[in-house]
Amino acid sequence: MRTCVGCRKRADRTDLIRIVAITDEAVHLLVPDLDGSATGRGAHLHPTIECFEQAMRRRAFGRALRIAAPVDADAVRAHLEARNPDKAPPNGKRSNSS
Ligand SMILES: [Zn+2]
Repeated sequence: MRTCVGCRKRADRTDLIRIVAITDEAVHLLVPDLDGSATGRGAHLHPTIECFEQAMRRRAFGRALRIAAPVDADAVRAHLEARNPDKAPPNGKRSNSS
């Protein structure tokens, strides 16, 4: 079980996406680690805009990833928006059934 950094609820890791930070000079880019191949620290998040926004409001990504500087999470937001085009709550269907 992992804890979502957005809503703080515990969930099975298969229900969460893993977010990792790529540091490029002074900029910390957050990206979804979709195939689980990235090394280092990860933050786990429900793949929803709601949990993402909660995590951003509380700066939970920086805390989970041990980054003190501001982070750029545009790539994560874009991924979630593509995944949730209507911001609709999941209806029990899974798109990541690989
Ligand atoms: Zn959540």
